[in-house]
Amino acid sequence: MLIDSHAHLEMPDFERDLEPVIQRAKESGVGYIFTVGTEKRDWKKVLEIADSHLSIYAILGVHPHNAKEIDDQTYPTLREHCRNEKVKAYGEIGLDFFRNRSPRDIQLKRFREQIALARELGLPIVVHDREAHRETLEILRSENAEGCGGIIHCFSGDYEMARACMDMGFYISIPGSITFKNAESLREVVGRIPLESLLIETDAPFITPEPFRGKRNEPSYVRYTAQKVAEIKKVSFEKVAEVTTENALRVYRLQPLS
Ligand SMILES: [Zn+2]
Ligand SMILES: [Zn+2]
Repeated sequence: MLIDSHAHLEMPDFERDLEPVIQRAKESGVGYIFTVGTEKRDWKKVLEIADSHLSIYAILGVHPHNAKEIDDQTYPTLREHCRNEKVKAYGEIGLDFFRNRSPRDIQLKRFREQIALARELGLPIVVHDREAHRETLEILRSENAEGCGGIIHCFSGDYEMARACMDMGFYISIPGSITFKNAESLREVVGRIPLESLLIETDAPFITPEPFRGKRNEPSYVRYTAQKVAEIKKVSFEKVAEVTTENALRVYRLQPLS
């Protein structure tokens, strides 16, 4: 069994064919999908999808792109939604200094606040870090994110960053870009991270792995990421599937499968 630790099934890209997408994931051995609502208008949809599918769990929070939209109602609404037992983590939160859709000072402030909220809610956090490695690490440290634990999703840092995150109890989640020709440095980093700290994800509909690069991504394609991780680490596909599944079940606090 595989787990897609991070996807966005609520996005309009899946509006027309969500059920076939979920079905194809099942047929490809994907036992669970974690779908991530990144802004207010998505949260209800995420919960609806999770509530109506046994194999789907929810992650809710405010993405750094949307940090500037946080208002007085945001955190009370999230507190309420996160009571749903299908919500297994808080996120994705963090910093995106590549697109800068929200001003940086607001991103930094909202990242700190949301780590505190996740701690209050007793949920692990899912961290988005794009071109902000140093600031992300600083905030994780200063806000004692070790107390929440969680995942650095779509990891794009170097090994030293991965090491620092693992030392704080974080898992490192690898997207489909690991299959890209130009991803040599990510492959080198993955080669050094113990399998026991790795998760795999699609971030669907984004970051479609080879051989489908250029098309819409979907959870069934997480197997191409697993395959590439197996090649890099010179272990079997089954071993990668088994260990990354155990890791995901542990970080999201689900019962291990018998
Ligand atoms: Zn992200
Ligand atoms: Zn995402």
